[in-house]
Amino acid sequence: NPPPTLLHPEKWCRGFNHFISQCLIKDFEKRPSVTHLLEHPFIKQVHGKDMSLQKQLAELIQEQQQLGSIAKTRRPYHVDRADKYSLDDDLVNLEVLNEDTIIQQLQKRYADLQIYTYVGDILIALNPFQNLSIYSPQFSRLYHGVKRSSNPPHIFASADAAYQSMVTFSKDQCIIISGESGAGKTESAHLIVQHLTFLGKANNRALREKILQVNPLVEAFGNACTAINDNSSRFGKYLEMMFTPTGAVMGAKISEYLLEKSRVVKQAVGEKNFHIFYYIYAGLYHQKKLSEYRLPDKKPPRYIDNETGRVMHDIVTKDSYGRQFEAIQHCFRIIGFTDEEVYSVYRILTGILNTGNIEFAAISSQHQTDKSEVPNPEALDNAAALLSIGSEELQEALTSHCVVTRGETIIRTNTVDKAADVRDAMSKALYSRLFSWIVNRINTLLQPDKNICAENGMNVGILDIFGFENFTRNSFEQLCINIANEQIQFYFNQHIFALEQMEYQSEGIDATAVEYEDNRPLLDMFLQKPMGLLSLLDEESRFPQATDLTLVDKFEDNLRCKYFWRPKGVELSFGIQHYAGKVLYDASAFLEKNRDTLPADVVVVLRTSENKLLQQLFSSPLTKTGMFCTALLTFSLLQLPVDTMEVMRHPEETTNMKRQTMASYFRYSLMDLLSKMVVGQPHFIRCIKPNDDREALMFSHERVLLQLRYTGILETVKIRQKGYSHRILFEEFVKRYYYLAFKAHETPLGSRENCLAILEKSKLDNWILGKTKVFLKYYHIEQLNLFLREVI
Ligand code: ADP
Ligand code: MG
Repeated sequence: NPPPTLLHPEKWCRGFNHFISQCLIKDFEKRPSVTHLLEHPFIKQVHGKDMSLQKQLAELIQEQQQLGSIAKTRRPYHVDRADKYSLDDDLVNLEVLNEDTIIQQLQKRYADLQIYTYVGDILIALNPFQNLSIYSPQFSRLYHGVKRSSNPPHIFASADAAYQSMVTFSKDQCIIISGESGAGKTESAHLIVQHLTFLGKANNRALREKILQVNPLVEAFGNACTAINDNSSRFGKYLEMMFTPTGAVMGAKISEYLLEKSRVVKQAVGEKNFHIFYYIYAGLYHQKKLSEYRLPDKKPPRYIDNETGRVMHDIVTKDSYGRQFEAIQHCFRIIGFTDEEVYSVYRILTGILNTGNIEFAAISSQHQTDKSEVPNPEALDNAAALLSIGSEELQEALTSHCVVTRGETIIRTNTVDKAADVRDAMSKALYSRLFSWIVNRINTLLQPDKNICAENGMNVGILDIFGFENFTRNSFEQLCINIANEQIQFYFNQHIFALEQMEYQSEGIDATAVEYEDNRPLLDMFLQKPMGLLSLLDEESRFPQATDLTLVDKFEDNLRCKYFWRPKGVELSFGIQHYAGKVLYDASAFLEKNRDTLPADVVVVLRTSENKLLQQLFSSPLTKTGMFCTALLTFSLLQLPVDTMEVMRHPEETTNMKRQTMASYFRYSLMDLLSKMVVGQPHFIRCIKPNDDREALMFSHERVLLQLRYTGILETVKIRQKGYSHRILFEEFVKRYYYLAFKAHETPLGSRENCLAILEKSKLDNWILGKTKVFLKYYHIEQLNLFLREVI
């Protein structure tokens, strides 16, 4: 018999674990010999005499057998549930569908510790606020290449779906995790990486180890303790895991967005600086190395001493920070940083801590009242020593600045406040550039080996970006975060609702209009040029005389829409009606934060550093690789005005622009992110925080309802129940499934009739044939794949 040509051999090979494994296993059960299996026509056709396959097969079989036995003996959680598939697992199956029934369902499941629930192909994840034993390798095996309905909903099932989709259709995937702060996004992202690492079994154990160390390392630098979450991500992260065409992990790449660098120099009451500062201080304290890094051992440096006395107490009594420091050293080593690099990183970090201790005092003489000096020169010397720069030069850069007027350079002195601002600006720049350098270095160390078919590689991207924030005091950072969330919500809406409706219409299918909150007008209010909020902010930032008050006045005069208002009696505040609720912003320091200036004098001094790494951090304007080119892809989505496009085509000019504001940088980052999201096939995970007290098993009706509403889940349920989540072109459908109704050697045309024949033969119902596509419910796909496996 000729080997069935179910899929193109290359594709077939990619789908090895999924379509073919069942068939190989069946074969193996009949005749348990690996040598015999290697003679299988499938294997021979694609692999010839490749002996490494033998090992791979043996592993596969062993795994499948274990999987079978686990599945037979134990349901993962909810052990007493006799049936394999429960209608409760998917909200779409609810007969009566409204807010109450949805909440009840989620609440009931939460009480049973069933934290995951589907809404069609979207996964809802409720934060359990306790460790559940459902993430072991056993569970990874259970959720490996099986039908979704074989097991209860699980984050591994979502990762598996993305992986299967990637290998089967050779298409990049994108997993978008959203939710408010503390809802469980970062944990979910970790679990996905864990499962993908398992699925994409790299023969290269070292690489797997490296990938697993990336998150802990990056999070030590980018996460901090906030009022809401002890391990809150203060940056957005898009992690791409790269796979070979056969689905083996071959590398990883991170992109970071919007690090909240103001945290380095100041934290709100009850909040902390980035973890790494405590780790390094405690680590050095316990290793008795503080003096080597010129740090005091009685009182922690000012930047990490937000709650007086508390930090020192924790460091002396508890050893956990110290252990974390060791863990970080381990991460650096595993990922492949050299000792010299790590040493440089430590010197920069402790240099920043010492910089924070530099004080300023006014020198008042008769002629000059705006001059400042450093009353504690030892702090200055310490900082300069750790940053390997001259201490006099540093002092000069902090207490004075050059102005060029009419070709002449004049030196002006800084007031005490100005000098302190320059000091803090320097610390922030040092930290954020160091962070970007670490991320870039990780990317270099984890990039795929050029020899292993990198050009045919595919990837799964995982987006973990801070959720919507609404604190008692909301500043520039919250505004940026909330705009980013607004954008992600827009993408979600586009994906789920708008595209759905447009497609129905163009295919001549009657789609009962489903209403949803379109946040497009709000996004326009932020992003439009020249009258959007970010543009107005940039414009005001260019005026030297502008103040935060004139900025808010400007907003009020120009943003005349229902989403913006200005509360009476509080001068510097303004309100925005976000999709997720009303937020009151405090505009103090908006202009300064947006200008984000680092005086040239400081840059010049830092460039003279003998620390090679530090020199490198300031040797060129920091560019985000690929950011500008990829951003071009998103115009159709965002319809940006022409001048933005011009800027993007000439990235050098932009980065050299004297004043690249945070707002414009932020806009670009957002584009970059979106461009990555739109090229992949999206998978959505909606994290929900069941209560604000971080209590296990506590379910707050109101809080959950609010989140369901603003994440669009309520509407999603409706549209999914009615809708068709999969639409496949006739030609593609016939190519994929013709084997169900035709003979192996036949090559049927990709026509409507042939689709009909296949569908009728499969005895599915509820599908629709449009003008060019087959419209299927998400469960049809599973059934079709199952039939396919049976007939092979
Ligand atoms: P986010 O990234 O959305 O702000 P995190 O992922 O940091 O939230 O989660 C906040 C906290 O909630 C975690 O530190 C952890 O204690 C708990 N948590 C979240 N998801 C889980 C989970 N699946 N299992 C156990 N605990 C979890
Ligand atoms: Mg997080």
